[in-house]
Amino acid sequence: MIENIRPDSLEELLTYLDQGDYYVFAGGTDLMIRKRQWQGAERRFDKAIIYLSHLACLRGIIETETHYEIMACTTQNEVAQSAILPEYIKAPIAQMATPSIRNLATIGGNVVNDASVGDSIPVFFALDAEVVLRSVHGVRRLPIEHFIQGKYHTALQHNEILEKICIPKINYDGFFYRKTGLRKASILSKLSVYVLFKVGESSMEDIRVVVGAVNDVPIRSREAELQLLMNGDVASLVAAYKNRMAASDDKRSTKVYREEIACRLIDYYLREVM
Ligand SMILES: Cc1cc2nc3c(=O)[nH]c(=O)nc-3n(C[C@H](O)[C@H](O)[C@H](O)COP(=O)(O)OP(=O)(O)OC[C@H]3O[C@@H](n4cnc5c(N)ncnc54)[C@H](O)[C@@H]3O)c2cc1C
Repeated sequence: MIENIRPDSLEELLTYLDQGDYYVFAGGTDLMIRKRQWQGAERRFDKAIIYLSHLACLRGIIETETHYEIMACTTQNEVAQSAILPEYIKAPIAQMATPSIRNLATIGGNVVNDASVGDSIPVFFALDAEVVLRSVHGVRRLPIEHFIQGKYHTALQHNEILEKICIPKINYDGFFYRKTGLRKASILSKLSVYVLFKVGESSMEDIRVVVGAVNDVPIRSREAELQLLMNGDVASLVAAYKNRMAASDDKRSTKVYREEIACRLIDYYLREVM
């Protein structure tokens, strides 16, 4: 019989994690799939499970003067329907999974699970988000690009939790987001493209381009973004992104489809705004 622990406080949760080895369970929508066996069989959990999404201090969205802070156990639906967050954050999250999954699945779970197809991660790359990690020993704050280290591989240590995701507040003028999959709902991405921009008085001031689900980690080139701002040459940016692509063939799609469609979408969106 596997032990199930429901700590009463954040401190208790962190103490457990510091002293033992547990499955940290938020919404469970990734864990329950990863641990499934044949139809009707129990999930294959081989060590104790510790729950955290009932802790109020790990839920909610806070707006400070400079940042939006999304607590890790905030559900995808709470993000998608937030009265605080801007559309450029809510729209991509609203396209994840299905309404019932979005009611359970947490933003933190998507980031820590760190699948190459995780749809929130490219968005956080574009927004220069930082993650706040907490253990009984203190707090670490890392740029999302340092936290995400490879497919299913993050910088989270065994005694830490992801506490929140902090996003600098910037008044962007627009964004494009496109996720391609076999159908619109309940589908993992073949690829996604996210473009965010801010127009200055006479020219483009800021532009960010991120490609998700093509490589193991999202593709973003700050150098290519900067070049684009300086010379307006969309073709060069597309070529720079194409150079970084290393997609594979799998059951969802092919390398050729992923790379070709990602390049065409970037090209199409950038020509709309440049
Ligand atoms: C039908 C279906 C459709 C889906 N569609 C999509 C989709 O369109 N796009 C997409 O990206 N994903 C999709 N998913 C995957 C999943 O729903 C998301 O990744 C979700 O955000 C995971 O969150 P969770 O709270 O359920 O995580 P859990 O399953 O509870 O946890 C996932 C991992 O993160 C760890 N973890 C969770 N929270 C924390 C924390 N705060 N601190 C430390 N570790 C933590 C857990 O230990 C585990 O390793 C889908 C899943 C299903 C079942």
